[in-house]
Amino acid sequence: LIELSSFSKRFGDSQVLDGIDLRVERGEVVVILGPSGCGKSTLLRCLNGLELGQGGSLRFAGRELGADADWREVRQRIGMVFQSYQLFPHKTVLQNILLGPLKVQKRPLAEAVAQAEALLARVGLLDKRDAWPRELSGGQQQRIAIVRALCMNPEVMLFDEVTAALDPEMVKEVLEVILGLAESGMTLLIVTHEMAFARAVADRILFMDGGVIAEQNDPESFFSNPRTARAQQFLEKFS
Ligand code: ATP
Ligand code: MG
Repeated sequence: LIELSSFSKRFGDSQVLDGIDLRVERGEVVVILGPSGCGKSTLLRCLNGLELGQGGSLRFAGRELGADADWREVRQRIGMVFQSYQLFPHKTVLQNILLGPLKVQKRPLAEAVAQAEALLARVGLLDKRDAWPRELSGGQQQRIAIVRALCMNPEVMLFDEVTAALDPEMVKEVLEVILGLAESGMTLLIVTHEMAFARAVADRILFMDGGVIAEQNDPESFFSNPRTARAQQFLEKFS
């Protein structure tokens, strides 16, 4: 579904992604691990056009995605949720969720509302439908941000450290939503520092270091027997 070959990205003089080769199949759950600054967020941002690469190729669903791609369309098919929830403070939960389906996708109101309510129920927040973002906990806001992305019916979801800003007691409720998506067969790329979650959710772990994929393996093999010294050092910090 997603295919990068020799994909590269520079910021000024620094080579942030240095020849990434990666294939993600439909339905696959890929977790990206690696030290701070290794290029994890940049990789995800390139996948939905928030950054443009300078070398190599990026293909999605058989199409090359370059500077001239229809990124607006791509972003409907590849949803992304970040560390900060970015809900619009002056809109209710439901209004936040409906913005994309109504304004971007021009869908009928009743159909979009029905889907929004179904998704809210799925994450246990239907009773917050008419609440304001400030009335919600961090974990609740982040689940709403996930619902908002899902309501565009994306084929792929990108999660960049979505629990990093949350109090520990709220982390679980957000990770459970992502686990549910994984179980439903959705294609996911996840950057996280939650190692137990990574191990549980991933079909495959990518370990990045210095802008390259230093190692990739199934989670059991990666966590029990990391092959590179860098991955070993990285994992020691979490044990
Ligand atoms: P973290 O775990 O801390 O989130 P990361 O792996 O997500 O790190 P990136 O955010 O992808 O790392 O950043 C990779 C490198 O690119 C870093 O050295 C960072 O300083 C640099 N970088 C990222 N965005 C920009 C930008 N817009 N302009 C210049 N440099 C940038
Ligand atoms: Mg990052």
